[in-house]
Amino acid sequence: MIYDVIVVGGGPVGCFAARFLAEKGFRTLVVEEHEKIGLPARCTGLIGDEAFRRFRLPEEAVERSITSLCVFGPLGTSTRYAADRVLARVVNRPHFDALLADSARRCGAQIKTGSKVSAISASSNDCTITMQGGKVFRSRSVIIASGGRSNLTTKLGLGRLKRFIWGAQADVSFADAEEVEVYIGRVISPGSFAWVVPASPGRARVGLLSYDRPRERFFSFLEDSRIRPRLRGAPTPVIASIPMGSLPRTVSNGVIVVGEAAGQVKTTTGGGVYFGLLCASIAVDVLTKALEENDVSSERLSAYDERWRALLSKEIEAGLRLRQFARYLSDEAIASLMNLVFNDEVAERSAPFFSFDWHAQIISRLAKEMPKRLLARGIKALSAS
Ligand SMILES: Cc1cc2nc3c(=O)[nH]c(=O)nc-3n(C[C@H](O)[C@H](O)[C@H](O)COP(=O)(O)OP(=O)(O)OC[C@H]3O[C@@H](n4cnc5c(N)ncnc54)[C@H](O)[C@@H]3O)c2cc1C
Repeated sequence: MIYDVIVVGGGPVGCFAARFLAEKGFRTLVVEEHEKIGLPARCTGLIGDEAFRRFRLPEEAVERSITSLCVFGPLGTSTRYAADRVLARVVNRPHFDALLADSARRCGAQIKTGSKVSAISASSNDCTITMQGGKVFRSRSVIIASGGRSNLTTKLGLGRLKRFIWGAQADVSFADAEEVEVYIGRVISPGSFAWVVPASPGRARVGLLSYDRPRERFFSFLEDSRIRPRLRGAPTPVIASIPMGSLPRTVSNGVIVVGEAAGQVKTTTGGGVYFGLLCASIAVDVLTKALEENDVSSERLSAYDERWRALLSKEIEAGLRLRQFARYLSDEAIASLMNLVFNDEVAERSAPFFSFDWHAQIISRLAKEMPKRLLARGIKALSAS
């Protein structure tokens, strides 16, 4: 049988795309290298409420709703943001992914687990997917949703993701975690942050993003006096890389790249689920018309590349600039910045620009509030990088 579309990767983004394509009646196959969808888990599961409202995501996987967060800076600085609405949900990622896969199956998609793709050859007439072991599947188009660590796009001449950050995290037994806690400072992770995210009762996900030594930094964060007394047991972290920047090209003849494989990640926080789903819905729209008109040439599919970049490029770039800026600031500079930007007046002026998912506006707003001395230092760091 020749499928209309083969989706490589049964993560949230691949299953989400497969569901809508199958629902439209396209013969859809998802191939996933692991035996079980959702495992191994490498995610905190914090997803903004906007994603739930926009896409009616599976509520059964939600462990907790988040309405407030607290940011702890260096030298005793801190600030708290409490909303009068739900800002985000914490999901159990294996369960969340499995539910998305179930809904793709219910709409008619086939899902083959324990099936690793070793090669893709694609043209505007025919695509061939070769599995490890030699089995071959044929289709009219391919969606690559294989995450940030796969090299399938490089082999197709789409370039590669160049910059990454490390995430290290463990799901732990933890006392007194009621809101999202964010920890910043050079000792914790220069230019980045650590977190405690409450999950099911008595449990939390504790982790950090860092440019170097993720394991060492993770264990040293656990020894922080604000963490150690609340932690039970001896956690082992999962460590995984997250792309910081997008793939140079995300379409070619017969092929569309979505999700983390395309670098569709919030570069501020490393969150990739919502941006991936947004881009998957654009991919479904463009591919539907292309399949209906029997033209899956790269020219026809390039509308996908243009549309998702118009939506996300500003966000991705703003996050990268913020990180580069923050990476070279001393703890004293971060503390004075926190005192400045989180004082009542500035916080009030900036509040309308706060969004859980969209950060470019608040970044540019806060940059305007920044003292010239600090700004000059940041610009020097940016131009040196
Ligand atoms: C520590 C950490 C915490 C995170 N926390 C959050 C968070 O709180 N919120 C958030 O939004 N994001 C978070 N992220 C990022 C988030 O996990 C990813 O952005 C998201 O999973 C991307 O979804 P995806 O479907 O594009 O890719 P993935 O979830 O990576 O799925 C890709 C799938 O493709 C499969 N695959 C790969 N190669 C092949 C192949 N050759 N053949 C067949 N199958 C293949 C993989 O097995 C995998 O199942 C976190 C990441 C880390 C590392």
